[in-house]
Amino acid sequence: MLAAALIAGACTPEPVQREGDTRVRVVATTGMIADVAARIGGDRVVVESLMGPGVDPHLYKASAGDVRRLSRAALVLYNGLHLEAAMGEVLEEMGQRKHTVAVTEWIDRSALTAPPEYQGNYDPHVWFDVRLWMRAVQRIEAAYVRADSQHAAGYAERAAAVLSDLAVLDAWVRERASEIPPERRVLVTAHDAFGYFGRAYGFEVRGLQGISTASEAGTADVQQLAAEIARRRIPAIFVETSIPRRTIEAVQAAVLSRGFEVAIGGALYSDALGDPGTPAGTYVGMVRSNVETIVAALNSDAATMTVSERDERTEGRSAVIVLERQ
Ligand SMILES: [Zn+2]
Repeated sequence: MLAAALIAGACTPEPVQREGDTRVRVVATTGMIADVAARIGGDRVVVESLMGPGVDPHLYKASAGDVRRLSRAALVLYNGLHLEAAMGEVLEEMGQRKHTVAVTEWIDRSALTAPPEYQGNYDPHVWFDVRLWMRAVQRIEAAYVRADSQHAAGYAERAAAVLSDLAVLDAWVRERASEIPPERRVLVTAHDAFGYFGRAYGFEVRGLQGISTASEAGTADVQQLAAEIARRRIPAIFVETSIPRRTIEAVQAAVLSRGFEVAIGGALYSDALGDPGTPAGTYVGMVRSNVETIVAALNSDAATMTVSERDERTEGRSAVIVLERQ
């Protein structure tokens, strides 16, 4: 309960630790890390997360308060692979004076992709391939054992439970994805957070902004993507909770100007969890919520017609609207 209350992000009060309290004080950057870290740590740890719901980790800069929290931590957990690009210096400095771990460290480099737009870096969004995130769970367990070796058995037991949950989750995602006809498994989002998701679960992924959110999408990118959506009659595109909505709305408008209506299929949690206490407030819940949203939108028949086809079908209704306007 305590751990759950503390992963809410920077807006939560700092945990009070009494003298003689031997729990390991942990600071994690993202909610995805904080959530699994709290579960693996159980009552042996106090976990805080720096980045709350809706926060974009690519652009996030550590505040003075964050630096204070990091300085007081016994263990710092971050994603690595340049996800926390604007925190590079702070994390490097922490690494020189305390136990600081990139949770993606144990993921085999051959399992990572380095798309050209990442300029030689790996794609950091590994949490969306549940099997890759299981390596992060193992890495966190090892960090706990090093920090608090007397309680190794407890960490091992809780990590095993989390790994078992993630194996179930991975199988569930596969099963749900298979409900969407293969030609409809195209995921259009504002930035390329879903590359590993697409590879693992059989979706073609088209992001407008490239891997990092640091570069804004240009008009040419919007037009090119819009033309493709209209041509292929892709039924839905998605907004992301940590990216301004206008990016994907620009695409929707450009598609409409080409005579095709694409639906906004809902909001996906890409680089941050949902609010604490909501279904997407945990790592498992975030993945489930995204998959439910994607399956519902891409399986919907409502949006796979051009504007003129839709007008034909709804002619009666349009007439009523015209009458009302007069
Ligand atoms: Zn991202």
